[in-house]
Amino acid sequence: MNVGFIGLGQMGRHMAARILGAGFNLTVYDIFKDSAKPILEKGAKWANSAKEIAQVSDVVITMLPTPQDVEQTVNGENGLKAGWKKGDIYIDMSTDSPATIRKIAEEAKKMGVDVLDAPVSGGTRGAESGTLAIMAGGDAAALEKSKKLLECMGQKVFAVGAVGNGNVAKLVNNMLAIANGIVASEGFVLGVKAGIDPQILWDIISMSTGSSWTLQNFPNSVFKGNFAPFFKLSLAAKDINLAIQLGKENGVPLPVSSAAEQKMIEAKAAGLGDKGVDSVITRYEEVTGVQVRTQKK
Ligand code: NAD
Repeated sequence: MNVGFIGLGQMGRHMAARILGAGFNLTVYDIFKDSAKPILEKGAKWANSAKEIAQVSDVVITMLPTPQDVEQTVNGENGLKAGWKKGDIYIDMSTDSPATIRKIAEEAKKMGVDVLDAPVSGGTRGAESGTLAIMAGGDAAALEKSKKLLECMGQKVFAVGAVGNGNVAKLVNNMLAIANGIVASEGFVLGVKAGIDPQILWDIISMSTGSSWTLQNFPNSVFKGNFAPFFKLSLAAKDINLAIQLGKENGVPLPVSSAAEQKMIEAKAAGLGDKGVDSVITRYEEVTGVQVRTQKK
């Protein structure tokens, strides 16, 4: 199977490496060519556009920042659409808007191309180790054909129904993760300001009812003041915005998550967009004059 991969950033570079390592014939593209260097050295081929990728691939995967990037990559000049052939499969693994990928799927169907949306959870560590959770929406036969490919990136591939549903699952997950992270930031700033050691507080909460997956990351990020952009705050802001948009489309009120979104907007406006998502805590730290640190970076 000839596989094309577009978007070799924090996640995509590891996912592409897993695909190559599993023995697939891989061609890659990224607007920033330098990001392809390591995978080209390992034996992947380079294409000069999304169109070229589509021309030489049976299955194309995108792992791009925003719905606008996905739309541009599919429909733009020299986009995938210009190179698709009947029988091709396109899998968008970005965290995307369900409405965007459903529209793309509708258009692709007219060309005989199957579209799956298969966003992932598990972060850069999961991408590197091939242990991502993959939530795949779309045609069951196309998913079956793509199963081996997806399984080299993910420990578990969930079939979630129609195309777009992968991102419904992903947006609900990220809405919870981001809101949990903000509440954890509030709680830890409160705890430290009120006099408790952050490590002791973490040891307690980690095995108590207030814990969350996000909190598990605090010792590597917040406690060290390490806000390296493994998952950029700007992408988290995009995700919670997409979740709230989905709420509006479906008439579902999301007051608590909307408050969390405002905090992400504020953090982005304060210049934290290119830092890791956990850096949102510094907004609380600045206001209160405490830092939730157990060690230096
Ligand atoms: P990133 O910004 O690190 O990487 C994106 C890559 O896409 C970059 O290399 C960039 O040059 C490239 N790119 C951007 N626009 C392009 C275009 N038009 N054509 C070709 N290449 C283009 O982002 P990331 O952290 O790897 O995230 C990618 C997607 O995965 C996002 O939708 C994100 O929300 C989602 N995601 C990220 C994580 C994480 O932990 N980082 C986890 C799960 C899901």
